[in-house]
Amino acid sequence: MGRQGPRGGLERELERLDGAPYGRYKGLVGTWELGPGRTVRIVRAQADPFAPPGRVALRLDGEAAGFETELWATPVRRRALAGYLVRSAAREVRGERAYQLDAGGQEVLDRGSCTVGADGSVTLRFGVSLPGPRRRIDGHLAWRLLGPGAARIADRALVARAHEAALVREFVETVEDSAALRAELPQRGLVGFVADGALLPRRSGADDRPARGAEVVPFRSPKELRVTVRLPNAGEVSGMGVPEGVTLIVGGGFHGKSTLLRALESGVWDHAPGDGRERVAARADTVKLRAEDGRRVERVDLHAFVDHLPGGADTSDFSTDNASGSTSQAASLCEAVEAGARVLLIDEDTAATNLMIRDARMQALVAKEREPLTPLVDSVRSLHRDHGVSTVLVMGGSGDYLDVADRVIMMDAYRPADVTARAREVAAVPTGRRAEAESFPGVVHRRPDPASLDATARGRTRIRSRGTDQLVFGEHEVDLRSVEQVVDGPQVTGIGLAMELLVRRGHLDGRRTLAEALDLLDVELAGPEGVAALLSVHDEDLAVPRRFEVAAAVNRLRALRVFR
Ligand code: ADP
Ligand code: MG
Repeated sequence: MGRQGPRGGLERELERLDGAPYGRYKGLVGTWELGPGRTVRIVRAQADPFAPPGRVALRLDGEAAGFETELWATPVRRRALAGYLVRSAAREVRGERAYQLDAGGQEVLDRGSCTVGADGSVTLRFGVSLPGPRRRIDGHLAWRLLGPGAARIADRALVARAHEAALVREFVETVEDSAALRAELPQRGLVGFVADGALLPRRSGADDRPARGAEVVPFRSPKELRVTVRLPNAGEVSGMGVPEGVTLIVGGGFHGKSTLLRALESGVWDHAPGDGRERVAARADTVKLRAEDGRRVERVDLHAFVDHLPGGADTSDFSTDNASGSTSQAASLCEAVEAGARVLLIDEDTAATNLMIRDARMQALVAKEREPLTPLVDSVRSLHRDHGVSTVLVMGGSGDYLDVADRVIMMDAYRPADVTARAREVAAVPTGRRAEAESFPGVVHRRPDPASLDATARGRTRIRSRGTDQLVFGEHEVDLRSVEQVVDGPQVTGIGLAMELLVRRGHLDGRRTLAEALDLLDVELAGPEGVAALLSVHDEDLAVPRRFEVAAAVNRLRALRVFR
C-alpha cells in the first residue's frame, strides 16, 4: 500500500505491464498521483478477467474539488453533497460497462461509493473491470480507464465548477431540512410528519420513483392534525403531524392507507429533491413490523403474546427454527423494542390477524385457556403508557382497535381525515369483548454470543448481499425479505459489515446486551470514522444501516446463540 507514484507513474507502469500475465495487475495496488490534488488508489485488482471488478478510489483534495465551505460544514451536509456528487458521477459513466458505480436510489444515505471529508475532500469509490484479452494485461486500455477516464469523471462530476451552484445547494439544503424535521419530531410529541403537497405513491411496486400523472393526489393534512414546523432552509412548512400514542389508519380498500404507512416507513431516511417525500419524516427509532412465518427465533421472551403452547414450551424463553405467522410477528415486535424502537408500524396487509385481534365472538367460542395468543389490541396501550412505544396501525378490517386508539385517521380517496371523534362514538357501543391482558411486561435483553456471529467461509471473511433479499454472512444466508426498511443491496452489505464490526471491535463480547453493543456501533457510525469503519472490514459498495436493521439481521441469523 501507500505507494505514491509520481505523476505519470501509473501510465508508465501500465505501459510496462502491457501484454504481461493478467495476475500482475495486482502489483498496481497503491496510490498514484493523477494531477494536482488528485490521486487514484487501486484498492484491489481483480484476480482474473471474470472475477468481480477491481476496486478504485478516486480522491480530490478540498482545493481540487473546490466546493464552498458551507456545503460540507456538517456531517449531514457532507452526506448530502456526496449524494449529489455520486448521482452526477453515475450519470457521467452511464452505459460504460467498464465502470461500476453505486449511486443509490431515492434515499440519501452515507455510502461507501462517495464520501466528502471534513476537509472538503471528495472520494469516489467504484469498480473497474480491468481489461484482459487472452488473460493478458491491456495496458493502454487500462490506462485510459484509470487515468484519463477517471480524470474525466472528476472534471465532469466531482468538482464545483462542473455544477450549477443552485442545484447543489438545493440538494444539500433539502437533505438538511429533512434531517432537521426528523430531529424535531420527539420535541413536538410527534412520531411522524407528512407535509402538505407531498407525493406519496410510487411508480410501481418495483420502482421507487414518484408516480406521475394528473391522478396523483398531493397530500393534504386534516386541519385537526395540522402542525407547522420551521426548517433551517425552507422556513415554515405545514403538514400532518402523527402524534405519539396509538394511531389507527382506517378507510376502504385501495384508498391509500398502505401508501401512507410506507411513506412513514421510508421517512426514517432523507430523500433526494424531486422524490415527493422530501418532507415526510418518521422518528429515527421507527420500525416496521410484519408477519414472517418460517423465520428463526432465539430465546425471546414472548409470553406477553404467546403462552400455554400445546407442546408446553416455555414462551418466556422461546426459540424455534420455524416460527408461525403470529409468533414471528410477536418475536419481531419484542426484538424491535429490545433494539430500542419507540415507534412501531404495522399494516394489516402483512400482519398475522390472530396476533392483531380476537373478537368477542371468537372469545365466546374458544376459551382463553385454549388460545395461546394474546392479541396486540390488549397490550398496545400499555406499550405506550408504560414503555413509551407508539404504534401506527393500518387496520381497515376490524373495529376492535377503535377502543384503544388515541387517533383515527381515515383515508378517503387518498385524502386523510381525522375521524377520532366519530370513532369514539362508535366505540361507545360495547362489543362485549373482554381485554385479555392488563399490560405489556417489557422485553428481556439478550447477550449474543460473538462466536455465533461468524463471517468466515473457507478461511476468509465473506459478506455479500443478494439484493435486498439476502445477506450472505460467512457460511450463512440471512433472509431479509421481511425486513422492509432495508433500502438496497449495498445497505445489506453494510449490515453484514456492521455485524462483523460488532464482533471484531469486541462490542459483542458475550456480556453486553445486543442493545448496548448497538449503542457502541451507533457512536462509531455517527462519528468521524463513519463509513470508513465499515470499509475497514472490507472495501465494498455499502450504505450505512440503522441499528434496527443490524439487529434484525442478527436475529435472523440461524446460527445465533444468546445468553440471558
Ligand atoms: P390501501 O392500503 O388503502 O388498500 P394503497 O395504499 O395500497 O391502498 O393504495 C392503492 C393504490 O392507490 C396504489 O396503487 C397506490 O399507488 C395508489 N395511491 C396511493 N396514494 C395515492 C395518491 N395520493 N394519489 C394517487 N394514487 C395513490
Ligand atoms: Mg393496504
